Amino acid sequence: MTALRGRIITGTEIIGDGVVEFEGDTITWVGHTRDFAGQATETGATLIPGFVDVHCHGGGGAGFTGDPTAARTAVRYHRARGTTTQLASLVSAPGEVLESQVQNLAPLVHAGDLAGIHLEGPFLSAAKCGAQDPAAIVPGDPALLSRVLDAGEGVVRSQTLAPETANFRQLTHLLRSHDAVPCLGHTSADAATTRAAMLSSPGMWCATHLFNAMPPLLHREPGPVAACLSAAAAGDMVVELIADGVHLAPDTVRMVFDLVGPSQIALVTDAMAAAGMADGDYMLGALDVRVDGGVARLREAEHCGADGKLPIAGGTASMIDILKHTVAAGVDLLSAVQAATVTPARLIGAYAGSIAARYPANIVALDDHLEPRSVWFRGQEIGTRTISGGPLPAPSHP
Ligand SMILES: [Zn+2]
Repeated sequence: MTALRGRIITGTEIIGDGVVEFEGDTITWVGHTRDFAGQATETGATLIPGFVDVHCHGGGGAGFTGDPTAARTAVRYHRARGTTTQLASLVSAPGEVLESQVQNLAPLVHAGDLAGIHLEGPFLSAAKCGAQDPAAIVPGDPALLSRVLDAGEGVVRSQTLAPETANFRQLTHLLRSHDAVPCLGHTSADAATTRAAMLSSPGMWCATHLFNAMPPLLHREPGPVAACLSAAAAGDMVVELIADGVHLAPDTVRMVFDLVGPSQIALVTDAMAAAGMADGDYMLGALDVRVDGGVARLREAEHCGADGKLPIAGGTASMIDILKHTVAAGVDLLSAVQAATVTPARLIGAYAGSIAARYPANIVALDDHLEPRSVWFRGQEIGTRTISGGPLPAPSHP
């Protein structure tokens, strides 16, 4: 039995002086200190739920490609920084490659290291492929999706697809019948197409990194952003934001919180292998990426008809960095925590992301500067040595 005292952010409320008690891997009690009968260890910290990241390609020098060892490295990297629940995001690849990647990662999902798999493609707009290989992008193919879903036997939790892709309705139907959330993104669609796509299938929607890899919101061409913000405001969609200070301006992040609130926002890293690593050369899927000043960009962009700028190729932040950037943008800490824990957990149906009785004891202790001091994963204190020491050294075999 462990009992921790501190300021507690349960995910949806703040307890100024509270206690969280857990036994084994499960929280048994949370409430005000005055109501707690036992002895609790004073942490002097703010205790928040472990982060839930629903869009992540890797970290700590390793990417999610289907290699279970590399996947465990990436999971451990993010877990030591407070992400205790995460999806492994797979970029567009030929169907048989996706099938084998999903198959190879499924055991990590069954073991509880991953909460599931997010397919970022391959039914995207080639014109908005971002850092994905356009050669791997194909029109919507329900038979292909069916094979990939079956290969994982239920571990795929979400898929990013463009509203304008072929067979959109069948694809979303397939996803929902496998308890996977359809996420709109990497799209060239206009607002009407985006809205019509959502009307084609009732249920919760997700927007993949809203604003990034889609047309901008213009007053006479509102594009998918307007349709997604309306859907989020109506409670029908959760929008991902990569609030890392690189992908979005702080005022953009703040505006979305003001418009739709933290119950419809999932803060995500979109992190790739270089997260936590020194600047240098890495891979995102099959493409070469260079990280310079902590910003990952494709090394060659001719395949995307780029506008002179090399596409950003995923993030290098972890969820704690995202939380800090969000608060620095002017969002209150409770809202930022909710969008980093409760909301993404609800989106993917994960029983996690809250400090509440019967939930897994996944807890991050933050100091007054929002620096993580300790992480508990299923009741075990882990990885505290690696948290505050800055980036890890470069790997010997990148
Ligand atoms: Zn991504």
